[in-house]
Amino acid sequence: MFDPRAVRRDFPILDSRVNGQPLVYFDNAATTQKPEAVIRAVADYYRHGNANVHRAAHALSSLATAAFEQARESVAAFLGAASAREIVWTRGATEAINLVAQSWGRANLASGDLILVSTLEHHANIVPWQMLAQQSGARIEPIPLLDDGTLDEDAYRSLLRRSPKLVAIGHASNALGTINPVVRMTREAQDAGALVLVDGAQSAPHRAIDVQALGCDFFVFSGHKLFGPTGIGALWAREALLETMPPWQGGGEMIEHVSFDGTRYGGLPFRFEAGTPNIAGAIGLAAAIRYLGQFDRAELEAHELRLLGYALELCREIPGFRAVGAPPERVSLMSFQVDGLHQQDLGLLLDQYGIAVRAGHHCAMPLMQRLGLPGTLRASFAFYNSLEEVEFFARTLARIVAEQR
Ligand code: PLP
Repeated sequence: MFDPRAVRRDFPILDSRVNGQPLVYFDNAATTQKPEAVIRAVADYYRHGNANVHRAAHALSSLATAAFEQARESVAAFLGAASAREIVWTRGATEAINLVAQSWGRANLASGDLILVSTLEHHANIVPWQMLAQQSGARIEPIPLLDDGTLDEDAYRSLLRRSPKLVAIGHASNALGTINPVVRMTREAQDAGALVLVDGAQSAPHRAIDVQALGCDFFVFSGHKLFGPTGIGALWAREALLETMPPWQGGGEMIEHVSFDGTRYGGLPFRFEAGTPNIAGAIGLAAAIRYLGQFDRAELEAHELRLLGYALELCREIPGFRAVGAPPERVSLMSFQVDGLHQQDLGLLLDQYGIAVRAGHHCAMPLMQRLGLPGTLRASFAFYNSLEEVEFFARTLARIVAEQR
């Protein structure tokens, strides 16, 4: 059985005290903590390797370029991409979705075209499509949700009969943890003639990703949710598809030749990467991927699900505790409410005990509207969390609830 004690030593922040108490960090769906290996890779780059990439003739620039492109190779291998040319660096999942909307979307969608977006989505996988709809005249239909927090696949199939051009779905929900049946949904969408974008921001941190097995057309994720730095993430799409897409931002790095008579754009993937990229971020993300590579990811996931099961078991005993959503397949996070108590108050009270959870709508307002809730509390786990932390959390929550009644 996986023992988190050894790996906790790799994450210096986990030794912190917050409000005089040992930190219990259960806000991993918002961002994950960074192992020493990532912190060191970023610091080493700035200490010994800092230069701009793809430009200068000097040695340091060659080193920086090699490390940056090696990081792209790491991401390609991590996702099961056919080549590094299929990996476009972005600031994160949000920017990757905006890239697809503004590049592929503006070139391919016209007035009246249909985009399907699931009710479970983070705003990052809703608002870029709304902006595209405003620009192109396309329409958006939500894929409805069942009460257990899973998508209504019968309704989805009916929507597919209306020949959507694009389906945008999360692999895992940041608000309820639901793992969507993306392989099946993708196949059905493609059979109906649509392309499929899978938002992997919440799945990549918890399970191995293989874009070939998923079968989707676009896959996006964020480095900071994967134990890497903030401000870095990636878009994956097959080379043949990327080749058809126009650039979306202009500037240096993305061109082959510029003159006032016209500009020739660069090849893949540079055509989509205008300006100086987040070099340190890419190197840090590669270090995170290398760090994760030492583990059996199925074992990490099993540990995380044990934490979730234990948390649910203990919290169910607390008067007024209500889990929100009960998806049969889920990542390790628990959305909940306590009857009669406001989630923001509970979040602040837990913080007094050093426990970091998220309270609110989790950037999923349409989902909260569907559930008829203003928000929830969310405890989201990573492999470095322990059963002892779960016990302390449940005991503390029970104590707070008893004191508030
Ligand atoms: N998609 C999902 C499911 C998320 O949970 C998040 C962040 O919480 C995002 C997209 C956006 O990620 P980022 O802010 O790193 O771009």
